[in-house]
Amino acid sequence: MADAVYPPACFPHLPEALRELIPLALDLRWSWSHVSDVLWETLDPEAWRLTGNPWLILQNASPAKLEALAQDPDFCRRLEEIAAERRRYLERPTWFQEVGGKAPLRHIAYFCMEFGLTEALPLYSGGLGILAGDYLKNCSDLGLPVIGIGLLYQEGYFRQILDEEGNQVAVYPNNNPWELPVMPVRTDDGQILRMHYRFNGFNLWVRVWQARIGRTRLYLLDLNDPANPPSDRCITDRLYGGGTEQRLQQEILLGIVGWQLLERLGLEATLCHLNEGHAAFAVLERARSYMRRHRVDFELALTVTRAGNLFTTHTPVAAGFDRFPPALIRRYFSYYCDTLGIPVAQLLALGRSDPADDSEPFNMAWLAIRGSGAVNGVSRLHGAVSRRIFSPLFPRWPLAEVPVGHVTNGVHTPSWDSPESDRLWTDTCGEERWVCDPCQTRELIRKVDAEPLWECRTRNRRRLVQFVRDLRAQRPASFNYLPADTPLLDPNILTLGFARRFTCYKRPNLLLTDPARLLRLFAHPHYPVQLVLAGKAHPQDWEGQAMLRDWIQFIRSHPEIAGRVVFLPDYDMQMAEQIVEGVDAWINTPRRPWEACGTSGMKVLVNGGLNISELDGWWAEAYDPAVGWAIGDGREHDADPAWDRFEAEQLYQILETEVAPAFYQRDSRGIPTRWLAKMRESMARLTPHFSANRMVRQYTEQYYLPLAQDYARRHRDDQAVARDLIAWRHRLESQWHTLHFGELEVKREGDVYRFQVQVYLGSLAPEAVQVEIYADPEEPGEAPWRFPMTPGHPLLGSVGGFLYQGEAPALRPQEHYTVRIVPRHTEAKIPLEVTPILWQR
Ligand SMILES: *Cc1c(COP(=O)(O)O)cnc(C)c1O
Repeated sequence: MADAVYPPACFPHLPEALRELIPLALDLRWSWSHVSDVLWETLDPEAWRLTGNPWLILQNASPAKLEALAQDPDFCRRLEEIAAERRRYLERPTWFQEVGGKAPLRHIAYFCMEFGLTEALPLYSGGLGILAGDYLKNCSDLGLPVIGIGLLYQEGYFRQILDEEGNQVAVYPNNNPWELPVMPVRTDDGQILRMHYRFNGFNLWVRVWQARIGRTRLYLLDLNDPANPPSDRCITDRLYGGGTEQRLQQEILLGIVGWQLLERLGLEATLCHLNEGHAAFAVLERARSYMRRHRVDFELALTVTRAGNLFTTHTPVAAGFDRFPPALIRRYFSYYCDTLGIPVAQLLALGRSDPADDSEPFNMAWLAIRGSGAVNGVSRLHGAVSRRIFSPLFPRWPLAEVPVGHVTNGVHTPSWDSPESDRLWTDTCGEERWVCDPCQTRELIRKVDAEPLWECRTRNRRRLVQFVRDLRAQRPASFNYLPADTPLLDPNILTLGFARRFTCYKRPNLLLTDPARLLRLFAHPHYPVQLVLAGKAHPQDWEGQAMLRDWIQFIRSHPEIAGRVVFLPDYDMQMAEQIVEGVDAWINTPRRPWEACGTSGMKVLVNGGLNISELDGWWAEAYDPAVGWAIGDGREHDADPAWDRFEAEQLYQILETEVAPAFYQRDSRGIPTRWLAKMRESMARLTPHFSANRMVRQYTEQYYLPLAQDYARRHRDDQAVARDLIAWRHRLESQWHTLHFGELEVKREGDVYRFQVQVYLGSLAPEAVQVEIYADPEEPGEAPWRFPMTPGHPLLGSVGGFLYQGEAPALRPQEHYTVRIVPRHTEAKIPLEVTPILWQR
């Protein structure tokens, strides 16, 4: 049952010769490969332009049209070629077969609340979903055995309408799953698969859909089954809509029923990747299933299975995590906890920083950490921020040792490049440009001649100008904040882009700080700029909506610059693609450190766009004067209005004195040499690195392969390793309070300090702990200094007393060093799963 296929009976009027259209229409690879565009365009040019949904086009095609195409040898030959190209893509040897072919890794289950794959399947709200979509696409390209798990929302995220005053109106068009490019999953006998789940005492029917993304599959669950009571059918209506209870219900569906689905389909997931804490209940269900299969208790099951779980956090503030009132958890989980064989209190403790505090809400991120074998943030800076946020779970551990690593996000490059950019990269770097080792493309693109590079940039900009003009022609009402006859944008003018969620921390109105100065930028006689804006504010975010209104009011009240600034309503993936392809420079102004990573700026790289951005998220690690511009000072200033004004000043200054002159100073051929040098460096250095190609490789090597080994070791031989680990942990935790230090003696001998300390271990064996000399890192971001000490003779007359000795280099003052005791076990993840620590001072 693993692979859903469309039964021919569902398509009685599709001629035999056109059968291959079905798998092509249902493979979302069309969202980036464009090989099959010609087919859909031939079938229905208008529907293709308006919906970009081949599956809808195929279903709506008239039998007469299909019959005619089946008789058209040209169309049939093309179809055969395109189908053959797809087969080659699916069968091509992949990178993963090389590096992971022999690893104990069957499938990687990837859970996310939202997936942004294409506008024809609108199940996302923003960055998190787009990242998940880009990830699945790149997993297909690299051959990772990934299975996505998500929800199918009847209404998805809201769509934006603006009135002429700039007030945002939220609307919710319906997603009819039978029109979306997905198909229902069927059982072996062809029946549509429905799962059951007992929610809060009632059994509900869960429908299951499958989307195909090249080699990768995505399963989507929803509750809109007519057999369910009407109130429950609405549980999956909106993404991030509704209240706390609905969010909990959605997360139960995603994590618990999502994992049950994998089992029902017989897909053995060795690795479970929680993309954000929403799906953390999956760790419970994975453990529960392990309990049943291997007849072990919850603790053992969790100890084994967590080794195969990875938690990626995307939140830069503790308030961003989902938290549920304990009473709600009790209501939804008392039955479930019975099946785990644990009291609800034990489950609640997994979601609290202080397990003993009965009033503390249940935090999904805490559950995710306690159920995972590794945790990572999504940029270097966000890794550090997350270590701070998660430090309450690791009391007395130095920040540098809070167990959170990082993998910086990346974008699926072929999804965001323009046809012209793609041609340039293909001509320069060959067909393997997006799947080869990221280092290989660098030097090649650096050597591209100025003419083709500038030509490409110019065409990209021209295409965006045309897109904006066409958009107004199609949806004039969306532009009624402008006089109807205003010419929009100019293909020769430096084009800036700013498109993202309108919310306070992103400061979408930073450029409006000094309107007079901004006007001078737009109206400059020699160095004019133009600006393309887009973005939605959450329906509950009044401040965000006010900032949006400020922009519309600014545009309306300055007819002298009409057409230089446009706000495109209803920002979505399709629009994002056009904007990032066309702009010369991309502006991003978050308050550091609230942009965990940010990906939109990465999308302009392949198209030769430059970044002007706050030193936050990915830009804090990508920025160098050779590749773009930075604002801020690399430090945090919270929401200080004076600092906001300072950064606005910086931004104007950069635009006036650096960006605009570099763009307009041309050589005799009309080429801006300074601008081009930056473009070339940005493309060469940043495009390959800030790609999902690099990201997926890094997840594989840094996490998937090692975690799969860890899981295999804990599982085999009747969980011998995990059992030993649990026994050790129990001993350690029950004895820890008895540990203490005696006398410490430090002597300098040449270039080392010799440390000698009396340690009382009570009934713990010396092997159960590590006594070590410790010093904080010299520079933030570096590793702490640690030197092991070894037990010497037992202390006379003591129980479990030992004299420990060790040495540390005398490169730093002696008072930088201290001595501590930490747990030691070769198979344990310390301090992720055992947190005690004892300091000598
Ligand atoms: C890329 C993208 C985002 C994420 O942009 P950020 O700058 O990371 O916030 C949001 N929405 C859409 C439609 C996108 O394409």
